[in-house]
Amino acid sequence: MCSHNHNQAYPELNYGSGAKWIKSLTQNRLSTFLGGHFEGVNLSSVLYTHRADGANFVDLQVWSAPGLTKPSFREAMKQEFKPAKKGDSFGPSWTNHWWKVTLKIPSYWQQYERVQFEFDPDCEAMIFSTDGVPLQGITGGYGGDRRVEHIIPPQAVRDGHYAVVIESSCNGMFGVPWNGDTIAPPDMNRYFSLASADLVVPNQDAWHLMWDFGTLREIADTLPGNTVLQNKALVTANKIMNAFKSGDPENVNRMRGIAEDVFGKGWQAKGDKIYNEGPKSAQVVGISYCHIDTAWLWPYSVTQQKTARSWSTQIDLMERYPEHRFACSQAQQFKWLEEQYPPLFERIKKKVASGQFHLIGGSWVENDGNMPSGEALVRQFLYGQRYFESRFGKRCDTAWLPDSFGLTAAYPQLIREAGMKYFFTQKLSWNNINRFPHSTFNWVGIDGSQVLCHMTPVDTYTAQATVGDVNKGVTNHKNLESSATALLVFGNGDGGGGALAKMLENLRRIRAASNEYRELPSVSMGSSVEEFFEDIEKESKEGTTLPVWKGELYLEFHRGTYTSHGSIKKGNRKSEILLRDVERVATLTTLLKPKGHSYVYPKQDIDECWEKVLLNQFHDVLPGSAIGMVYDDAEKLYAEVREACTGLLEDAFNVLFPQSSPLMSSSKSETMVAFNPTSFERHDVVKVPLSGNAARLKAQVVQASADGKYGYALMHSRGNEVVAQPTGLFANCVPASVYTNGADHFVLRNGKVQLTISEGKIRSLIDVKLGRELIPKGRSGGLVIFEDRPNYWDAWDVEIHHLETSTPLSFSQVRVVAAGPLRAAVQTKVKYGKSTIDITISLDAITATVKSGSRSFFNFDAVVDWHERHKFLKFELPLDINSNYATYESQFGFVQRPTHKNTTLDAAQFEVCGHKFADLSEYGYGVAFLSESKYGFACEGNVLRISLLRAATAPDAEQDQGRHEFSWAVMPHVGSFLESDVPMAGFIYNSPLHVRTVPGQSESRLSPTLPFWLEGAPNVILETVKRGEDDFEAKSSDTTVILRMYEAFGGHGSVKLRLGRHLAVKRVYLTNILEDTKGELGLVRTADGSSTLKLEFRGFEVKTVKLVVGTKESDIAPTIDTHSRSDSWVTVDEEL
Ligand SMILES: [Zn+2]
Repeated sequence: MCSHNHNQAYPELNYGSGAKWIKSLTQNRLSTFLGGHFEGVNLSSVLYTHRADGANFVDLQVWSAPGLTKPSFREAMKQEFKPAKKGDSFGPSWTNHWWKVTLKIPSYWQQYERVQFEFDPDCEAMIFSTDGVPLQGITGGYGGDRRVEHIIPPQAVRDGHYAVVIESSCNGMFGVPWNGDTIAPPDMNRYFSLASADLVVPNQDAWHLMWDFGTLREIADTLPGNTVLQNKALVTANKIMNAFKSGDPENVNRMRGIAEDVFGKGWQAKGDKIYNEGPKSAQVVGISYCHIDTAWLWPYSVTQQKTARSWSTQIDLMERYPEHRFACSQAQQFKWLEEQYPPLFERIKKKVASGQFHLIGGSWVENDGNMPSGEALVRQFLYGQRYFESRFGKRCDTAWLPDSFGLTAAYPQLIREAGMKYFFTQKLSWNNINRFPHSTFNWVGIDGSQVLCHMTPVDTYTAQATVGDVNKGVTNHKNLESSATALLVFGNGDGGGGALAKMLENLRRIRAASNEYRELPSVSMGSSVEEFFEDIEKESKEGTTLPVWKGELYLEFHRGTYTSHGSIKKGNRKSEILLRDVERVATLTTLLKPKGHSYVYPKQDIDECWEKVLLNQFHDVLPGSAIGMVYDDAEKLYAEVREACTGLLEDAFNVLFPQSSPLMSSSKSETMVAFNPTSFERHDVVKVPLSGNAARLKAQVVQASADGKYGYALMHSRGNEVVAQPTGLFANCVPASVYTNGADHFVLRNGKVQLTISEGKIRSLIDVKLGRELIPKGRSGGLVIFEDRPNYWDAWDVEIHHLETSTPLSFSQVRVVAAGPLRAAVQTKVKYGKSTIDITISLDAITATVKSGSRSFFNFDAVVDWHERHKFLKFELPLDINSNYATYESQFGFVQRPTHKNTTLDAAQFEVCGHKFADLSEYGYGVAFLSESKYGFACEGNVLRISLLRAATAPDAEQDQGRHEFSWAVMPHVGSFLESDVPMAGFIYNSPLHVRTVPGQSESRLSPTLPFWLEGAPNVILETVKRGEDDFEAKSSDTTVILRMYEAFGGHGSVKLRLGRHLAVKRVYLTNILEDTKGELGLVRTADGSSTLKLEFRGFEVKTVKLVVGTKESDIAPTIDTHSRSDSWVTVDEEL
């Protein structure tokens, strides 16, 4: 039987015109359906059924908080409010205004599906319930991140009245940039006016139609024109436009059926179940995220509000979209929220428990990945993971730094040591020279540790969840041969906000379309970042089928951030070192104090200081890329850390050195003694005041100044001794001297090295022992100025073309200020523009370290009065040393970089982040620069440079203006870098002795030897000595000491850890950096009562050892911790 339909026969005749579809015109037409010129008659005209404002419906009362204060909800509610109305203006920038809003809802509105309150203060705001529970954030204005509607609960609509409290804050999502250019400094006097305070009934069908149309249009614009789906989407969108009748809101519902041609029949009713249909595993995994820069174009205090706004909004969305999962990082932001918004914190706890709110990153903040020390990176994880564990009973599994400006190769090891094996970032998509070759790969660090890394091919952490974003997850994936999935990290960010409802709606539609058509990658929702990584791990056979990237993840961008804001760099380095000293001294004091002494390890004070230092390591603060207000706050925090740490050191020294006081001109005691905060034997030349009471110290100095006001003493601390004593010149000393022709020729010299300044330039650097000149013939070194005008990101970028603009400066007014024998020094003044640079160049009678053959270094102490704009000050030395690579210290090791520009990869790395040293060596010899507060270096050919000061004007117009004090040193050494003592010299250079005076007869509590020291492997360095974190938990009964060591040269090391007999060590454990036990270590007791432990290191390995030295002292009070913690804290991580 014939099954054809004979009723619709193909006509014989055709008198029609036929249609050649002009596709481009149809595609262009789609842009006219919403807003724009036809706003009054297109879809925009039917989005609202009712709108009401004015006192009959909306009663507004306002109270403006005085100045820049930020009162809590409770404080604000006690104030006297005044009537206000739409159009009223509020300011200036950064002020806070509180609103009491009472709504009267017409009774006939009960018939509608939804009633909303629309509040647009043109700035950011937060809606609270009348009893103070944060409900959601408001993002005013008309940007893409606009969020101004608050859904009124149905019960309130039935009741006919509703009330909320609102705090509006006079800043936008990106602060208040002058003239609207994002990175311009803030306009401190901006006013915002209340644009909307309306009761509205949205036409829900119209809104859904708008989202349907939007998705169709994205499909039509994103997919290539020769695909079925692209044409289908375009035809369907066109049909919707044709069917739309202006002035007839009722037909909107009928039109929604048209979109089912693409999304499938009845797709809408399936809701979040749409994700259960179609392919079993999706290629693109969606996770919502809200990047909130902990400070950037706004200060820390505003971030605290942004956090509450953004997170409450996400919880609100979770109620309506069950598939919504939100990943959230940065323990510091949780802690602020816990302190300032306790009701919201409780809501978040519930959502963490229910599995919708995911903890990620494991660190205190999303820190800079270049400049924090190795130990600081350890603390980012230690404080971060411990916080998450204590508040939520779980730790993070994935390290997460999507926006940091480059990532040190120390990270893979530290991430594994922090109990994680996955890592997410995307910042390298910003490279401005080379394209990074991978999306999913094994990232292998300097020591060989690996983490499974995904750099989303979507190239952003603020995706808008468009068809283009989802599609890019596949089309831009660089490793589809080995892994086919991508993470879509979506939601507004940087200034906060997070996902919008329209993003979740769009993803449902994209999934619906991909269930019907295969041209779009399918997107999934509802799983976690961990599940995404677990799948890759499984499918790649534990990573074995994935490519490997070895070494750092260098960002080819933002290279000026190693130098911008010199004060913040100095604050970071000095605070890191000070905290290390405090922990070491306080630990020794708790071990060595007299029995019954009341000294208690100041755990809480130390934690508070560390939290401040870790906070300032945020990836827009430490890099120097925030507005000026942020640096006011940051410097205050550093000042607090300095003050607290100085006090803590004083407390401990008063126990260790009874009756002692710091070395000052008011010192009354006659004996000098110093605490050596390192584990190295060392010599130091110490400047001693000799006026006033301190005159009695005269017997201890070797050299006095001409005016007799101060002198120089030589201190020696022997191996394994913590105390340094003054000594006279001894056999190994190399007396220093200075020669001048009385005009423009100066020579600083000792028996090891010699430096000549002639006609304003450093023209000779000689190794006296070898008779070797280190500066190439005809060349000279000194300070240099470069023109520093990057293409856009002023504080962030120094661009490669600055290297073409060097202007050498001359040392002028050189004069001798110390003639030896302990210290020889000249002082010089450099004038440039409106700036003055005073530099003292000195040479001491000692070598850099006690290593045999060590040379002396030339120290440069600079005091700069800096008033330049867009200039870059550096110090450089051309060296008669030829090498393809220079070496720079990084966290727990070093990084080597090409000195040439063979390839674009080499050329891109023209500025280097280094820590305490940079070195250029060839076979047999090298020269290093040591630094005590700078992080920018470079080696161009044979010219070694240290970057000293920049002067950007955005986003801080006054960056680096004013006074700076910093030092660096030039250190020649015999042998190549790997044979040198450069790492030790850099360590000592950054760790000055703590010099004190004591009455002649007083005794130190310190025994002649340290309670623990290393022997047998000079390449293994003891970095950190602290008390165990667990000692301060209420349930702990042990006193423990944590020792952290690392291998510094990249080779194996077999080291003996010696434990003195006065230290009753009961057991020793190997732990990870979170101080979880990995296993017990065997102690060998020796006849004299001491004991020994053998430790094997691979190159660059970091090892943490926990000594159990006794039961908890009764006088060590546990810190107050009322938060419950799971019992799983101490576990043996079998994988490690
Ligand atoms: Zn950021």
